[in-house]
Amino acid sequence: MSNIPIEIREKLSNDFELKPLKILNSFKSADGTIKVAFELWDGNIVEGVLIPSADRITACVSSQVGCSLNCSFCATGYLPYKRNLDAGEIFDQVYLLKKLALEKNNINLSNIVFMGMGEPLLNYSNLLKSIEHITSPVGLAISPQRITVSTSGIAKMIKKLGDDNVKFNLALSLHYADNDKRTSIMPINESNNLEMLAEALEYFYSKTKTRVTLEYCMISEINDTEQDALNLANFARKVKCKINLIEYNPIDNALYKPSTNIATQNFIKILEQKKHIVNLRRSRGKDINAACGQLANKLLK
Ligand code: SAH
Ligand code: SF4
Repeated sequence: MSNIPIEIREKLSNDFELKPLKILNSFKSADGTIKVAFELWDGNIVEGVLIPSADRITACVSSQVGCSLNCSFCATGYLPYKRNLDAGEIFDQVYLLKKLALEKNNINLSNIVFMGMGEPLLNYSNLLKSIEHITSPVGLAISPQRITVSTSGIAKMIKKLGDDNVKFNLALSLHYADNDKRTSIMPINESNNLEMLAEALEYFYSKTKTRVTLEYCMISEINDTEQDALNLANFARKVKCKINLIEYNPIDNALYKPSTNIATQNFIKILEQKKHIVNLRRSRGKDINAACGQLANKLLK
């Protein structure tokens, strides 16, 4: 900054440290999805993904290095939790992915999802600070309605989002609507069970009037039976929501398989008979381990 006095420049460099993210590597999938490995100032690595589709281009960003919650179906859950990302590190991922979208696809970033590595609601203040910068007119000026934060379900923090009257969208990774079964694949359910989550989501809706998305990853013969669909339909009745069924992406650490087409179509039929809004999400970037749940620094080793 040669346009400011030398004494101020010296003071700035003595008192402050810049810790920008570096793009270490990037990989492009056959479907156009790009996975980026970001190196942090301390050598840790997190991943972000750029997902182009017909009408939009979405950036998927990480909130923590690793994850402490150990969901059995998620590759990140098998990585050790190292630390929270600070607000600048979250913002930088969005900034760099936005730049990449312009360079590679010649379009502006349209949506942001916090569905990369880590549990965003366990890094609450940095999450909110980063979103403040992303949405600010002097930041990236991206509308909060184009941002979705996905959580495995931390009831207290979902209520706090309501109290803070946030304007972005919230998605709950449900994956089972039965407490014992959910706990068996998502240990966090032991301390944040379905009743607590339903109550927190109701509270969130009463404050924000934003309909949440229930994410349900279809795992063959694990959570895709008729009874599972009925349980999900019952849970979904308790909260204002829509349901996204996600194709399960196989990972090295677990033997789960994606549900068959027949099981998935049956599941959808039951939910629709119960008058729920259901979307089926096909996975993107599987060939480069960039799909949901596959982020584990795998191609970097
Ligand atoms: N920790 C947060 C956000 C990151 S995970 C959360 O759990 O919501 C982003 C999404 O990917 C979640 O819905 C998660 O359940 C899902 N996911 C994890 N592993 C997956 C896999 N192998 N296949 C498909 N989706 C997966
Ligand atoms: Fe963590 Fe989310 Fe993966 Fe569970 S699904 S281990 S909460 S990143």
